[in-house]
Amino acid sequence: MRKQIILAVACLLCLGSGWAQSKKQTNMGAPHGETDFVVNWKRYYNYDEWTQIMKDLQKKYPNLCSIESIGKSRMGRDQYVLTITAKNTGKDTEKPAVWVDGAIHGNEVNGITCSLYLAWYLLTRYDYDERVYEALNRSTVYILPGLNVDANDSYVRYPNTENNPREPFRPLDDDKDGLYDDDMTEDVDGDGELSVMYAEDPEGEYRLSKDGMRFVRIDKTDWWEGTRFRRIGNEGYDNDGDGKMAEDDLGGIDPNRNFPFDFTKVDGKSYPLSEPETRNVWMFMKDHKNILVDFNYHNIGKLIMYMMPPKATKPAQRRYNMNRTAEKPDKYAFKWDTPVDPEYAHDKAVQERIVSDGLFILKDYTPEEGHAYGETLASTYYMLGAYSYLIELWNSPTSYADTNNDGYVDDDEFARWVELDLGGDGWVKPHQVEHPQLGKIWIGGTSKKHIGRTPPGRYIEDEAARQCMFVLHCINQLPQVKFTTHTVRQVAPNLYQVEVNVTNDKIYPTASDRSVLLNRYTPDKITATLSSGTLVEPGKSEKPEEETGWFRANYIKPATAAGKEVTFRMQGQSTETFRYTIATSNPKGTTLRLSLNSANGGKDEVTIKLQ
Ligand SMILES: [Zn+2]
Repeated sequence: MRKQIILAVACLLCLGSGWAQSKKQTNMGAPHGETDFVVNWKRYYNYDEWTQIMKDLQKKYPNLCSIESIGKSRMGRDQYVLTITAKNTGKDTEKPAVWVDGAIHGNEVNGITCSLYLAWYLLTRYDYDERVYEALNRSTVYILPGLNVDANDSYVRYPNTENNPREPFRPLDDDKDGLYDDDMTEDVDGDGELSVMYAEDPEGEYRLSKDGMRFVRIDKTDWWEGTRFRRIGNEGYDNDGDGKMAEDDLGGIDPNRNFPFDFTKVDGKSYPLSEPETRNVWMFMKDHKNILVDFNYHNIGKLIMYMMPPKATKPAQRRYNMNRTAEKPDKYAFKWDTPVDPEYAHDKAVQERIVSDGLFILKDYTPEEGHAYGETLASTYYMLGAYSYLIELWNSPTSYADTNNDGYVDDDEFARWVELDLGGDGWVKPHQVEHPQLGKIWIGGTSKKHIGRTPPGRYIEDEAARQCMFVLHCINQLPQVKFTTHTVRQVAPNLYQVEVNVTNDKIYPTASDRSVLLNRYTPDKITATLSSGTLVEPGKSEKPEEETGWFRANYIKPATAAGKEVTFRMQGQSTETFRYTIATSNPKGTTLRLSLNSANGGKDEVTIKLQ
């Protein structure tokens, strides 16, 4: 009978930490859930399609996933966010969280795929993969695959240049004729691509290249007897009758200059959060204090852009380097050579460590400091205290096509890549077209849409899979605070001291330095209950000693004198020691029960007997 009760209790405890992982897969050559919900990752999806995938994922994994609209775009499209966490281990808002959004710039739609892939990876693998299981049991991931939904949908659905549409659909009079967005680019030859128009002209400055693939400028010293061409401009019609083609395209202001921190009229136009798309995101993030980390996907350039604290204003502190063992060279190790004030030292260290790990995971990426001027990542760090990263995906085909290793892809290298890697598909070959306004013209000589800024379909999954591992690493490094070891010693007759260690093995603290300075965090708390005797409340003299010598500063963190309740902020990869002083004449019968409650680092409990 007793055995049965113990078993039942053990089972309940199991459930408390998540559903049992029913399909755990340790064979690396076997499926890990990807066949349970099949998605084709070799293509792009329009708004209806990608939001349908989100809804279907939610239906398939209701215990792990919720879907909600955080608001509507200017054109009335819902901005759907997936909230992913194991629901039976606690509410999403009561766990530390990572926010991921993609494609704030309408044309940067590989950010949609990367975000969507992350959601799919986490949900399909939960039952199979121990790391994902652990991640979703104790943390939350909020995913908004396409932020700039109107422009995102247009970019995927219609013929576009690789750069357009980029902004939210706020009408803007680019050509100052009093009419808004009234001369857009259009697909004149109906091939599904937007290229460039040329006209034959004896005075023209261009000719066709030898292979007939490009229009090349004729050098002034060149003797050229063949056909000459004049460049007209982007493919389209003169809809406003001003003699210019496609010069007042869709969209208005840069959404990534529309956030409140360090907003400028020059870059942001209008006013902070003037766009519904950015305002909805900001309100959601502001209301979710559990978001400790955020990612924004952009293109291009293969960059990890990170937000750092402000540069030091105080004289640099004297530093002691106690690490005497020679470090192994690490080509991915990242150090930010800018001193910061001591109250920001931890944020700097955390960012250096995470960016180094990211560089390792993503391999051919470069670190770059984030900007301010109303960019998302500056606002989320400086105003919300979240560790922020902007990922510039893809870098045209440099990694694939650069044959002479000069870091640049010239026309010949590009043509070879299109021919050999892409089987010839990727280029709009110059061809003659009858234009209703211009008569006989030529169109072509450019790459197709999904080639320079967004990868061709066949490359999507490679990129998404690596990005997914970087975010998963950050999820796994969200804080986890636990009691570890403790000691009890008698310091005088009837007087005992208990020292207990609290550890966070993860890289992220329970709140960033910035959050502490903003006072936008819930302090970690330990509450003590004593079965008998008296807990000596710490007096002024029992405050932690000043960190004096180098040895103490580097090796021994002084214990913090604690009483019934002590509050603190737990740093990443650190241990804090708390000292309890107990007066009792009955040590045998005295126990000290400590409850740890960290809003972002979880809960723990320990019961300590004095003897
Ligand atoms: Zn961008």
